[in-house]
Amino acid sequence: MPVHMGIMCEKCRRVHFIGTSPGIKPVPTPGMYALTCPFCLETKEFRKETVRPYRISDEVFKSGYANELEYQLIPSTNR
Ligand SMILES: [Zn+2]
Repeated sequence: MPVHMGIMCEKCRRVHFIGTSPGIKPVPTPGMYALTCPFCLETKEFRKETVRPYRISDEVFKSGYANELEYQLIPSTNR
């Protein structure tokens, strides 16, 4: 399955994908984004470096988010 970069909403554990999620918007601070989760309305700002790679289907990516059982976090290769 393809790998896409996403950010998790800690409240509902859904992962939102940059590029397809309508809840992710750039903010005036360079390198920062804001996530407003369309489901639980939780908001947070995050640096683009904090997105993680997730293995998901193309269909899930196009929908903009993945439910908890639809994604697989790819473990970091850093120690
Ligand atoms: Zn949420």
